[in-house]
Amino acid sequence: MNITSKLPNVGTTIFTVMSQLALEQNAINLGQGFPDFFMSEELTGLVNRAMQQGFNQYVHMNGLMLLRERLAQKIEKLYAAKINPDTDITVTPGGTYAIYTAFTTILQPRDEVIVFEPAYDSYIPNIEINGAVPVLVSLKFPGYSIPWQEVKQKVNNKTKAIIINSPHNPTGAVLSEEDIQQLRSIVQGTNIIIISDEVYEHLIFDNILHQSILRYPDLLERSFVCFSFGKTYHCTGWKIGYCISSPAFMKEFRKVHQFNCFSCNSPVQFALADYLQNENAYLQLGSFMQKKRDYFRSLMQQTPFKLIPSHGSYFECYSYAYFSNEADKDLAIRLTKEKAVATIPMSSFYKDGTDNKVLRFCFAKKEETLETAVERLLK
Ligand code: GLN
Repeated sequence: MNITSKLPNVGTTIFTVMSQLALEQNAINLGQGFPDFFMSEELTGLVNRAMQQGFNQYVHMNGLMLLRERLAQKIEKLYAAKINPDTDITVTPGGTYAIYTAFTTILQPRDEVIVFEPAYDSYIPNIEINGAVPVLVSLKFPGYSIPWQEVKQKVNNKTKAIIINSPHNPTGAVLSEEDIQQLRSIVQGTNIIIISDEVYEHLIFDNILHQSILRYPDLLERSFVCFSFGKTYHCTGWKIGYCISSPAFMKEFRKVHQFNCFSCNSPVQFALADYLQNENAYLQLGSFMQKKRDYFRSLMQQTPFKLIPSHGSYFECYSYAYFSNEADKDLAIRLTKEKAVATIPMSSFYKDGTDNKVLRFCFAKKEETLETAVERLLK
């Protein structure tokens, strides 16, 4: 028996491919983005306590109310946004799920979505599985800024949505206030919906302000804004995040969500509701991770790789164009096998496989992990 593939051109995600290879080769994994250090013991303690106290049954399908209330308080403080926890927030099993659900909520067959490349690898399959069409715009290489003129040219009456992502995975680029103005001028007076992937909201460096869509009420009413606790609290395996939108949009989002995940892991939600009271845990994340980035940068200076500077996420991109012409996928595989250091080849984030000879490195690691990785590269 056969099934007709809904994603005929899709293979296995590069994150799993490289992590599997890293495991087989006993390599240091600077590929897939996840920390290798311990998360907060206070937070794991809160989960244990919640389980032991019996908070193990379904919570509300939209998320534990106390957690949504605490999120609304955090958002008001950080972004001066008034968010109604009852109607505007849904807790999801991770940021990627929130993005997929947003696409599935809004897309009709043949709708167009503007996607910037390099793009996080779930976006295009999420669009295509809904019968819609990704309209690709390449970020300007090597700074990875948005060519707004080209976006204007590609917008038409079939454009249903634009997906933005800041701080950006895989490049680390961050959007400026000027970018938001450009976006506003494009969507104003249209029905274009914004999907904003902000899972790295706290991983922003060099004193730059995160340009959350939550800061802009006129944009928020046409947006789905997606977040991840995994990135903020070093627990990517917990798969928990949330989506924020306007009440009318959220009502439709929840119709899709309720028959897919229904309700997320409950003890974790009780724990997170408590832990959100600890503002320092997220306010200090930027400087904590910037130290790692700066340390990794200083180590990488000894190698022939050339940094493509950026200001956010836990990834840094390095070019090798001037010392090798090898395909980036081949180089990433070879480094994993020969040097025991895994990375992600940037061509994986382009539908046509554009290869600018760039590798993505995740620096959310212990100092000794970064040191050993660079020592191995230097050998
Ligand atoms: N977001 C992580 C990354 O970019 C990985 C997510 C995943 O493996 N699906 O590396």
